[in-house]
Amino acid sequence: MSYQVDEKGYYGEFGGAFIPEMLYPNVEELRSQYIEIMQSESFQKKFRALLKDYVGRPTPLYFAKRFSEKYNTKVYLKREDLCHTGAHKVNNTVGQILMAQELGKKRIIAETGAGQHGVATATVCALMGLECIVYMGEIDIERQSPNVARMKMLGAKVIPAKSGSRTLKDATNEAIRDWINNPVDTHYIIGSVVGPHPYPDMVARFQSVISEEIKKQLKEVENTEDPDYVVACVGGGSNAAGIYYHYLDNPKVGIIAVEAAGKGIDTGESAATSALGKMGIIHGSKTLLMQTGDGQITEPYSISAGLDYPGVGPMHANLFTSGRGEFISITDDAAMKAGLELAKLEGIIPAIETSHALAIFENRKFKPDDVVVVNLSGRGDKDLNTYIEYFNL
Ligand SMILES: *Cc1c(COP(=O)(O)O)cnc(C)c1O
Repeated sequence: MSYQVDEKGYYGEFGGAFIPEMLYPNVEELRSQYIEIMQSESFQKKFRALLKDYVGRPTPLYFAKRFSEKYNTKVYLKREDLCHTGAHKVNNTVGQILMAQELGKKRIIAETGAGQHGVATATVCALMGLECIVYMGEIDIERQSPNVARMKMLGAKVIPAKSGSRTLKDATNEAIRDWINNPVDTHYIIGSVVGPHPYPDMVARFQSVISEEIKKQLKEVENTEDPDYVVACVGGGSNAAGIYYHYLDNPKVGIIAVEAAGKGIDTGESAATSALGKMGIIHGSKTLLMQTGDGQITEPYSISAGLDYPGVGPMHANLFTSGRGEFISITDDAAMKAGLELAKLEGIIPAIETSHALAIFENRKFKPDDVVVVNLSGRGDKDLNTYIEYFNL
C-alpha cells in the first residue's frame, strides 16, 4: 500500500474531485496533462532554473546546535524561510505559473486568506507578465493590509469577497465562480495540497523539491538519506507534503504533523483538524474538516494566519487515519514561546506557523542520536507585530 495518490486521485478514502459540473472541463484539462507536462524535459529545465536563480534553491539544511543541545537530540532545520518571498509557498507558484504557460493560459486567478499565497501568486505573475486577480475576503483585506499593498505593488488586482463571513471560504467561492466563467484563458493557482484532484498531487510534487534536497544534504553530513523523523506544521499541508514526499513510503522515517490548537482544542477556538475534524467535502475534495453536527464548516482559529484553515489536504487526512503520521497539536502560547526560543538560541526568527512545529520538543522526547529534520517553513518578518504585542517587546 502506498501513501501517494492513486490513479483515481485518492489517498485512501480521501481526495477525489467533487466539483460543479461546469468546472469539470477546466479540471479535466489539467488532470489529463499535468504529469506529462511536469515530467517533460523542457518543463523541468525551466522549473529547475527558476528554483535556482529566482527562488534561491537549494535552501540550506542547517544543524541547529544550541537548539539540539537544549533538547538532547539532533535537530536539523530545512531553511525554507530563505526562499524568495520568505516561505515555501513560492515553490508551488513558480511551478504552477509554468504549468499555466504550457496550457496556454493568459490570466491567473487565486484566492487568499492571510494574503501569503496571494503575494506568492502576484510575484510569479509579475515575473511572467501575466494578468493576476486575487480574491480575498473583505474582512481579511482589512486585517492583512501589508499583504494587500504587496499584491498591488506586484501588479495584481485584489477583489474583495463580500458575501458570507467575508473570509477565505467566500474568496474561494468567488475564485471558483470566476474560473467557471473564464474556462479557456484562465488558470486557477491553488496554494496548498487542497482542492480537487489533481491539485493536491500537483502541489505536493512541486513542493517535493524540499525532501529531494534533504536526501542529498543529509547524505553529506549524516551519511544517510533518511532522518529518523521529519516534522512540519500543517495548515492545508503543502510544506508538510514537501518534506514528507520522498519518505512517505519509507517506514524507517517517522512523519510528524503539527496542527494549531489555538486557545486549546476544547475551547472552540482552534484549527486542530485531525483532533476535531470529520469526513466532509471542502474546496472540491473529500477530507477531514471541522464542521458542526449538520455539516456547516466551523470557523477555525489560530494566532498564525497560515494555519487558520478548517480542513487538511487529503494526503494528511490519510496519514492521520492510517496511523502513518503522528499528529500533535500546539497552542498559541506554546508556539509563541518556541518562536522566541529559536530566535534566542539560533538567531533565526521563524514565522508563527513554523513556531508550532518547533514547539513539539518541549513534550515530545527524542533519543540523543535521533536525526530530526524540521521544516522551517517561513521567516517571522510578517509576524513581527504579533510577536511585539504578545511579548510586549
Ligand atoms: C502558508 C504557510 C503555512 C501553512 O501552509 P501549508 O500549506 O500547510 O504549508 C505554513 N508556514 C508558513 C510560513 C506559511 O506561510
